[in-house]
Amino acid sequence: MGNNIFSTPAIPVENEAKEFEEAMDSISKWISEYWQHPEQFRVFPLVHPGDIKKQLPSVPPQSAEDISMILEDFNRVIVPGITHWNHPGFMAYFGTTGSLPGVLAETLIAALNVNSMLWRTSPSATELEEVVLDWIRQMLSLPKDFRGVITDTASVSTLVALAAARETLQRNIRELGLAGRSDLSPLRLYCSDQAHSSIEKAGIVLGIGQNNVVKISSNDQFQMNADECAQAIQEDKQKGYLPFAVVGTAGTTATTSVDPISALADICSRENLWLHVDAAYGGAAALLPEKRELFKGIERADSIVFNPHKWMFTQSDCSVLLVQHPDVLKQAFSLVPAYLRTDDGEATNFMDWGVQLGRRFRALKLWFIIRRYGVEGIRKMIREHCRLAQLFSSWVDSDERFERIAPTLFSVVCFRYHPKNIQDEKILERLNTELLQAINGSGEFFLSTTVLNGKFILRVAIGNARTSEYHIRRLWEFIQKSVGNIKL
Ligand SMILES: *Cc1c(COP(=O)(O)O)cnc(C)c1O
Repeated sequence: MGNNIFSTPAIPVENEAKEFEEAMDSISKWISEYWQHPEQFRVFPLVHPGDIKKQLPSVPPQSAEDISMILEDFNRVIVPGITHWNHPGFMAYFGTTGSLPGVLAETLIAALNVNSMLWRTSPSATELEEVVLDWIRQMLSLPKDFRGVITDTASVSTLVALAAARETLQRNIRELGLAGRSDLSPLRLYCSDQAHSSIEKAGIVLGIGQNNVVKISSNDQFQMNADECAQAIQEDKQKGYLPFAVVGTAGTTATTSVDPISALADICSRENLWLHVDAAYGGAAALLPEKRELFKGIERADSIVFNPHKWMFTQSDCSVLLVQHPDVLKQAFSLVPAYLRTDDGEATNFMDWGVQLGRRFRALKLWFIIRRYGVEGIRKMIREHCRLAQLFSSWVDSDERFERIAPTLFSVVCFRYHPKNIQDEKILERLNTELLQAINGSGEFFLSTTVLNGKFILRVAIGNARTSEYHIRRLWEFIQKSVGNIKL
């Protein structure tokens, strides 16, 4: 035997396996305890910008530190600066929900640490991804043609979809780019004024230009005016622009409104444009048969993005892009020469489906979560959240000091405090800002705001599995008490 140079791994810590077991035990206890009672913390911490940074050394440690010290500092420095998305009172932006099956899967994903760029770099990762995404296709009641790929975020899914859309123009943009081409008119892409900023960002990244992301106005229910979209396309064509895609949103970020997807699909098939549907949040609601009518026409989309990491028990990050023509994605992104391109019959290499080469094994968490709760279990939570939002809306509607600003289609309520005798928008903004400060200062709830038609409004976005009727009742009571303390 003697000195075998291979016997010492390049890990600068001895007995790491034993240390790991002990640390994992304590982490698993910490997680279970935290998971049962995230409300032991303030939802938004009592910290100011810079508070965390000043507790951290500005230079990296030169020598190894004990894991116990690191865990201690995690509790002492990091946890007090966490905004607790797991808190049942987190109703800002989109309340999201992870799950313990998700924690288990993430742990195993970290342990396996595989890269699913090619089929052969981990056959299980690729094939499981294909299978769970077909489950999701079925859960959304989409036709068989849709095939899926997992990305990190909706922003990236949309970028990838619009790159594929651009490729369908067949103007050698992949090879020649867009700049300095006298043979190519400026490209145009259409979405509503309520669309997510990721559409515009995709336009920036793809060289379309922010000004060529045309914002179509929306109606009093915040849905895109389809006629105006059709007209804008006609006018642009006359002016020499090159329209290539329309993005409809099914569940907008501000109000969760749904664009008239069927009408947009009609326009796109008439004009031969790519229809991308952004259902990053709303997609989860399409699991409910009673909500499906709202999504009518989505089956005619060329691509759809849906984020399980928003409202489907899945830890961030996990976004699903479903496309009718995976070949176009490959045309846009594959850097394998044409003579090596694989047929549908052969194994999938997901590196050909998007920007990234390296890919995490995210399919594993979807598999754990969908199996552990079942589709019915997932539906149950989404349905309950929609019920809570209706309940909260009914309270807002029945109190004349408050005003609801948008229809409550899913689990988000947009409203504001609006005492009858006050019409000045500036004053209303001040009153609602003070109300928001009281709510968020409580440590029990966390809401965010938006501006709609010049009105400053509050949003209650229910999406955490822990949020129950008890919490929204307490929130409503708190709001009623707070407005009593606000000086008009
Ligand atoms: C949240 C959201 C996005 C962005 O999602 P990321 O995954 O954070 O990029 C895009 N569109 C809509 C409608 C959203 O609600």
